[in-house]
Amino acid sequence: MASPTYRTRGIVVRKRALGEADLVVSLLDESGAKVAAVAKGARKPASTFSSRLELFSSVDVLLARGRTLDIVKEARLVRGHGALRCDYELTLAASVAADAVDHLAQESLEQQRIFPMTEALLTVMEGASPASGAALAAAFLLKALATFGYRPALDACAACGAPVSLARADGQNAGGYPGNPFPSAPFSVGEGGVLCPGCASQLQAQPVSALTLANAQTMIESTFSALAVRPPTPAETVDLLRLANLWMGYHTGIRLKSLEQLVLGLQRCHGGVL
Ligand SMILES: [Zn+2]
Repeated sequence: MASPTYRTRGIVVRKRALGEADLVVSLLDESGAKVAAVAKGARKPASTFSSRLELFSSVDVLLARGRTLDIVKEARLVRGHGALRCDYELTLAASVAADAVDHLAQESLEQQRIFPMTEALLTVMEGASPASGAALAAAFLLKALATFGYRPALDACAACGAPVSLARADGQNAGGYPGNPFPSAPFSVGEGGVLCPGCASQLQAQPVSALTLANAQTMIESTFSALAVRPPTPAETVDLLRLANLWMGYHTGIRLKSLEQLVLGLQRCHGGVL
């Protein structure tokens, strides 16, 4: 009896070789769930799958249900996002986003916002300057983590809920934390975000640049298009990537090699200003 089939649209977030010529692809489907499927013969030069199932591509697929992995029967390219594979910095930045999705999304667990968010990121990143790529990746990590329920408290104390005012990107309004231009604010990953001075005296917290925290809030609340036009500086981006890494590691246990590579790359390129 033939296996039942179904159609879906997905974004390729991971590829790995299987056997002599097959490929296993992880797709983020439109519902926000992850689908792992085998594309048989996809690594043969003549296979039509090879160009349609590239990393970061959006594809319409016909899948047959399998016992462990589904089988790709047909694939139609919707948007290749090819520019992301032609520039090393953009490839690395997009890989951080794809890796994060591959770890955060679960099979059979729908999450309606993550597919359009990922599609929007890849589309904006494709037209962005290589220098903006890392900032967009940082924004994606913070937004995606917030979408999956891991949003840091940045405008109110994570412990008592008292309003907390951080330094904004223009250096103004350093509210409860005197000592401009960019004071640090007590931040507790375990408590869930920034702390007011009273709670910080009783709970474990580490000082984090208030500018970094203010930038993180801006990133969570901004569109990718707006961030691509006015990205943070490379030094600020490194701090944001480190904050996202710390937050993600503590709350989800996820460690991304691609993220470490992206930070190292930024430090190599902009070492003089970091
Ligand atoms: Zn408090």
